[in-house]
Formats: sequence, C-alpha cells, structure tokens
Amino acid sequence: MIIRSPKGTGVIGPPRSARWREVLALWEDLSGVYGYELIVTPVFEFTELFERGVGETNEVVTKQMYTFADRRGRSLSLRPEGTAGVMRAYLAQGGTGRWKVAYSGPMFRYEQPQGGRRRQFWQIGVECVGSSSAAADVEVIALAEEFLSAVGVENQLLINSLGDGECRGAHLEDMKAAMARSIADLCSSHRDVVELNPLRILDCKLCRPDHETLPDIAEYWCGPCRDHFGEVRQGLDDLGIAYRRSSRLVRGLDYYSRTTFEYVSTTLETSQSTVLGGGRYDGLAETLGGRPVPGVGFAGGIDRMLMAAPGESVGMDVFLVGEKEITAFDLMEWAAPLRRAGLRVAFELDPRSVKAQFKAATRSSARYVGVVSGVELEMREGRNRQTLGPEDLEKWGMKAFDPETRP
Ligand SMILES: [Zn+2]
Ligand SMILES: [Zn+2]
Repeated sequence: MIIRSPKGTGVIGPPRSARWREVLALWEDLSGVYGYELIVTPVFEFTELFERGVGETNEVVTKQMYTFADRRGRSLSLRPEGTAGVMRAYLAQGGTGRWKVAYSGPMFRYEQPQGGRRRQFWQIGVECVGSSSAAADVEVIALAEEFLSAVGVENQLLINSLGDGECRGAHLEDMKAAMARSIADLCSSHRDVVELNPLRILDCKLCRPDHETLPDIAEYWCGPCRDHFGEVRQGLDDLGIAYRRSSRLVRGLDYYSRTTFEYVSTTLETSQSTVLGGGRYDGLAETLGGRPVPGVGFAGGIDRMLMAAPGESVGMDVFLVGEKEITAFDLMEWAAPLRRAGLRVAFELDPRSVKAQFKAATRSSARYVGVVSGVELEMREGRNRQTLGPEDLEKWGMKAFDPETRP
C-alpha cells in the first residue's frame, strides 16, 4: 500500500508544474529586475523568533505553528511566514545599510486547508530593509503589481495607513470603546479580545460590528503619517497604479506601521481572494532585539495566484520523430542544437514505430513535429510543412549544425 501524504500537503507535478515553473521563473526575473537579491532563510527556526517576530498572541503563533522539540529538547518551529527570518538575518549581519531581498519557498501553517491554502504552501516575497522613504513602499507595490499582472491575476489593490506610535494610540482607544458598545455583534472567540486587540475584529469573517460607527484611522493620522501616505498615493498615481483606500485594512501588531496593502483577486470568492499582502514594519527589528530599522515588504501565495490565473499548460516546442533506422541517439544529436537555441525538445527514448511516435508527439502538444529522415528534418506545424536543410536551420539558432559532418 502506498503511504498517503499528510493532510494539507500535496505534490506539484506534471502537467500542472509547467505553469508553476513559468511563474517561479517570472518571479526570479522580475524581482531581480527591481534590484532584489536572492535570500534563502532556514525552513525551521527557534520558536522564539516567531513568538517575537509574528506576535505571541497572534493566532498564527498560538494555534497554527508546527512546533517540536529537537533531540536536545530545544523548541523549534517550521516557519509560518518569511519576514521574521529575513529581519533576523539582517540583524545578524550587522543590522546596518540597505537590504533589498527576495525569497521564494514553502511556509507551514496548521490550519484547515482552504482554497489555494494548504498546510505547506509556497510563498514569494520581498523585504526592503533600511529605508523609511515612501519611495520604498511605492517600489515594493510596483513590483507586486507588475508580477501579478504578468501572472495574469485580475485584481484590486487596497491600501491604508496604520499610523505610527505618535497617532495610533488614540485611534486604538476609541476603537476599543466602539467595539465594547457593539459587543453583541462580535463572534464568541473575539468578545474577549476587544481589550487586547480590537483591530483583529476587522479581519474576522464572523464578527459583524457596524463599520459605519467605527472610528477611521485617517481621522487620527499625525502630520508625518499623513504626508507619508500622501507621498505613497502620489507615487502610485504617477506610475498609473490604481488603488482604493480601505479603512478596514489593518494589522493587529504594534510593529506594523503606516503603509499596509493587499491585492485581492476579482475572480476568486471573497473569503479566499487575498493573493498578496504587505506593508511597513518599522518596529519589527526592535521586537527582535535589534536597534530600530525601518522596513517594508510583501508576501503572496503561489497556489492561490494560480487558482485565480490558471493559465495554459506549456507544451513542448518540438517533438522529434525518427523514420526507419533513426534511433533515439540520432534524435538526441538533432535535438542538441535546437535545445541550445532554447527550444523545448522531446522524443521517444524507447524504440517505437513511426505511428506510435506521432501519437506521442500529439500527446506532448508540441507546436512543431520534426520528422528526421537521414540528413533532413521536416518541420510540421499543423498543415504547414517545411523541409529544413543545414542552411535553413539558422532561424532556429542552429548555425553551427551540419548533419553531413556528423561523426
Ligand atoms: Zn470574530
Ligand atoms: Zn503618525
């Protein structure tokens, strides 16, 4: 009997993985183009990192982490997100200067699997550490925008500013009072946390406070926070990036400040429509024991993006069929220059009749079928056929190839 995979895990394999490869390659390219260098952080860390970096009272830490003791009894956890590990790494290498880093990899959360979100899920993300400028916020959003549009996710960008230590306190107090007044409209698990973290209620799908009566953070912003948000909006306007301000877009933890944003798919159902989220976390470095360091970034789940934009599976470019005495080894020689030219080329490895090879070509959904007979290659695309000799192969990037001189 084959052993099942644990609930909430899965395999990304063919044919679906072709699209994954395309999207991950796009991420590597685009994040590089924006000047973000690759970072790879540990998949498991000391549990304390996430208790501090994600928040001890955060549900992700209290209920969703895979936490275990190693062989010496130290508490380790699989990473539920990427930012804490990146900031820890930044502080460990001195905690100074500008860091623009991009990551891609699996994260782990023990929660009920839902659309596009499994217990092991794949996130891409960036962190821009060391700049408090609104330009950093705008650049991060511009990258997210370009990536999602390249992937083909139809979306809406929501933005907000959470204020900072100067101005958010008064808002929080008024929010607590407002929530206390509508305690009957809150779900059972949130009635008790009004005092602790009233903002979490805005995120809850079950709580139904009257949003019209809740205080809007915009009324509380201090001058610098108002200016910062104005610069972010101006920057987005200048780049032609559309957005909507949402006063409900909040983060419950103190180390988040100012800009926060979310990309919501317009094609997925609302309870699972967030494909990417991010914002500023100017207080995180201090929470982890470092000096104050500003930072802004985002993370997005690939599974959900591909639910919103499944795309078309990418087939082979060329499938080679060998006539008569042509062997797989001959085909491999014909394939070599095509592959060097960047074409995806396949052929049958086992001896097969010409008819069986054509069937395999159809299954591969290759754009071209290349029929090799002796020294000629006939390229077929639908009804179009073209016999290619060595001189014709130039357009395929096969200049150096001359079958006559094959050993
Ligand atoms: Zn609730
Ligand atoms: Zn402020």
